[in-house]
Amino acid sequence: MDVAHLLAAKGHDVTTVSAERPVRDAVELLRERGIGALVVVDGRGPLAGILSERDVVRALARSGTDALEERVRDLMTADVVTCEPGTTIPALMTTMTERRIRHVPVLDDGRLVGLVSIGDVVKARVDDLERERRELLDYVSGR
Ligand code: AMP
Repeated sequence: MDVAHLLAAKGHDVTTVSAERPVRDAVELLRERGIGALVVVDGRGPLAGILSERDVVRALARSGTDALEERVRDLMTADVVTCEPGTTIPALMTTMTERRIRHVPVLDDGRLVGLVSIGDVVKARVDDLERERRELLDYVSGR
């Protein structure tokens, strides 16, 4: 199983936010879509950064609700870890664990084609294990 398979099942939608928007707008997008991170864009290249709910929580702890008036660019992580459609799910799990990140944008030839969350990765792994279990059961019972 690789990222391309995962995206074929999950879809290629990526919710983005402009780097110059206030954090308040990003928080509203996170709430509205029920997601944990946004890819940040600024018109230069496929992405300018990533903003996760953790960045917002940190800023709230530091500055209180004044943080909501800051720009997305001020809170985002600019050095983004990405993967490719051919990246395997076990390799992605290792990256997420080692880098302590729960979201990885997918680039294909430098184009943004999806975003994989740790929830997607866990689901893909559980589906894989369930398929293997059924195949083994069929094998031992001669079906
Ligand atoms: P997360 O665990 O994904 O909610 O994010 C935890 C921290 O890592 C936040 O500061 C994010 O901005 C940052 N982060 C999340 N995803 C990535 C990524 N793919 N590359 C670099 N940093 C990230």
